[in-house]
Order: sequence, then C-alpha cells, then structure tokens
Amino acid sequence: MPEAIMTTYKRLDVAFETGQGAWLIDGQGTRYLDALSGIAVCGLGHAHPGIADVVAQQARRLVHTSNLYRIPLQEKLARSLAGLAGMDRVFFCNSGAEANEAAIKICRKFAAHKQLSDPLIVVMEGSFHGRTMATLSATGKPEVRAGFSPLLPGFQYIPYNDVSALEQVEAGRGQVVAVMLEAVQGEGGVVIPDPGYLQALRRICDRNGWLLILDEVQTGLCRTGAWFAYQHEGIRPDVVTLAKSLGNGLPVGACLASGTAAGMLQPGSHGSTFGGNPLASAAALAVTEIMSAGNLAERAAEFGRIMLDRFRAELGDLDEVVEIRGKGLMIGIELSRDCAGLVDQALEQRLLINVTAGKVVRLLPPLVISEEELHHIVDTVCLLVKKFAG
Ligand SMILES: *Cc1c(COP(=O)(O)O)cnc(C)c1O
Repeated sequence: MPEAIMTTYKRLDVAFETGQGAWLIDGQGTRYLDALSGIAVCGLGHAHPGIADVVAQQARRLVHTSNLYRIPLQEKLARSLAGLAGMDRVFFCNSGAEANEAAIKICRKFAAHKQLSDPLIVVMEGSFHGRTMATLSATGKPEVRAGFSPLLPGFQYIPYNDVSALEQVEAGRGQVVAVMLEAVQGEGGVVIPDPGYLQALRRICDRNGWLLILDEVQTGLCRTGAWFAYQHEGIRPDVVTLAKSLGNGLPVGACLASGTAAGMLQPGSHGSTFGGNPLASAAALAVTEIMSAGNLAERAAEFGRIMLDRFRAELGDLDEVVEIRGKGLMIGIELSRDCAGLVDQALEQRLLINVTAGKVVRLLPPLVISEEELHHIVDTVCLLVKKFAG
C-alpha cells in the first residue's frame, strides 16, 4: 500500500496503466468500464487522441512563460469560454477550489467597494466547494469543516432548493453581498433543484444588488446536457467557476465573471503562477473545440435520458430505491441505506462507479461513451442494486 502518501484518500487497491475512451486498463491487461471519468474530469474519455496531440505538440513548443507576459492561447481560451458562457472576463487557475477562491475574493472586493464591514455570502447546506480554508468554510457539509476551526467567517448557510429560505435572509439585516451555489449539488448526492429555482434566486439577487455565483466545477462543460447548467434556466450568473473537465485531466480552473464582478480583481489583488499557462490553455482550448464539434451537450442530454429511463423502469419499483435523479450524464440513484460497498462490488464486475453522500450511487460517464457502453453500465448497476435490495 502507498505508505509514503498522506492518508487523505481511501483508495481502492487497483492501478491503471493505460486508458482508451471510456475504458481503463490495469497492469494485468484487465479492462474496466469507467462510469465516473475521474470524477467528471475526463469528459472526452481517456487518452483522447485530439487532446494528446495538442498537448504533445504544445509541450515541444512552449509549456510555461508566466502571467507577466501575454499568453495568446490563454486569451483565445478566455474569449471562447466567455462566449460560450455569456460572460465578460476570465481568471485562470489550476483547480476548482482555486476558481472558487477567486469568486470569494471577488465578493470581498465587491463588499469593500460598498464599504460593508461585515459582508456575508449566502451558501447552501449540503454544498461542496473545495478543500482550501475559504472553500471548506463555504462548504455546507459539517464533516468537511470538522477539525479546521477557526473557519473563515462571512458565510451563512441556508437549505438548498428553498427559495423562501433566501427570502428570509432578504428580510433580515445581514450585509449580504452574494449567493453562491452549485447548479446541481454533486458531492451532496446529485441533488437537482426544482425548475425555476435558479430564476428565482436570480430575481432576488437582482433586486438586492447581490452577486449570483454558480459553482459549475462539476456541472459545467456539457455534463448536464447544456454547456453550463444555468443555461437550462435561461439565466446568467455574475460569476461562474469551472475546473474538472476543462482540461480533460490537465489541471485547469477558471473563474468567469460579467458586469461589475468582472472588474473587481486588479493587478496585485489576485494571481496564479501556473494559471492559464500555454500548455494548460492549449489543452482546454482543444477540449472546448472537440466538445463543440461533437455536439457533446446534446449527446449528454440524449444519453442521459436513455439511462434515466432505463434505471427508472428497472429499479423504480424497488423499496430500497428512494429516488432516481439525473440531468444529462450526471446521474444519482439514492438508496434507503448506506451503500458504499457497491463500489467494490462494481469493481469486481470491472465497472468504476462512485457512492456519494453515503447512499447515492453517482454516475458521471465520459460524454463520448458509446450507446453500447452506456447500456453495459446500466445492466451492471441494475444487477448490483437489485442484489443490494435483496
Ligand atoms: C470537485 C469540486 C470542487 C473542488 O475542485 P478541486 O479541483 O478538487 O479543487 C468544487 N466545487 C465543486 C462543485 C466540485 O464538484
């Protein structure tokens, strides 16, 4: 076992040496079908030849220069992302937590401009925003925060998918400057808010002059059947954060902002040594181009519907199945009790899945998965859940 590694993860005792599309292959040549994509990272599958070529060529040309100079690939990527998201400006970093740190710093600057001494960011119970001190303070899962006091002050937690909870905050006297949430809660168990929820939050933010910040680190870039999950609701946030699938495995994060929020960070107030370097930018640019060319948002919507329909038909009547939820290729099957053991059982069947929030089977297959592979995932998961249900 990896005794020289800090024990931040409980790892399965398997290691992969190569990948190909939706498949991972271990040292013995055993093939595993990947229904998790490295936690929503490899949307284009493993060892995508288009990404591999771009990364190899860029590595031979130029890897890093620093943000002290112009980086044309970064500028091109920013224009592309801003256009897709309907935003004005982008800050590049290397992870989801860093993208959210930038969003939180934008809120603090916004508050400083308003000369507020005790600004509050409203965040959601059950949320996950990262592991840095600020982002874990913003995270609405007590187990993530436990043992790290003193936490960063300035966050107020309210229930997710509850418009009236935000209206109560509105009626209070706190110095709220922003509302920050996931468009679909991922780590929280694939929790999908009701239609109209984001629109209602947008209206409340507008009438109070609050920033609406959407963490699309997991949901962004075609995963839910749209480029960004907020586009299902036809709204535009002030800030959007991205990471996971942006580099298809290369560490790239981005914080996109529009309007006032886009002008808050100035020279000296934020930065990142690696952020948006030529190699990372080339990879992310290739990701957006390949996703566009392949219509992967539509594909995710269509394939997600097929999976959801089959799961509901085959598992919907079981007493142990509480709810089957999905948006595009982000699917959660909530069971009535702890089901972490299903991950090992799936591994024995050569299938990689995840269980989050204790009792939700979470599936995040690559967006490029074939229909045959998709049915293979459904077949295996149905078998396992039926066995679990007894
Ligand atoms: C994974 C995740 C993060 C954290 O991203 P890292 O790259 O691990 O820092 C933040 N927000 C959401 C919604 C996530 O799913």
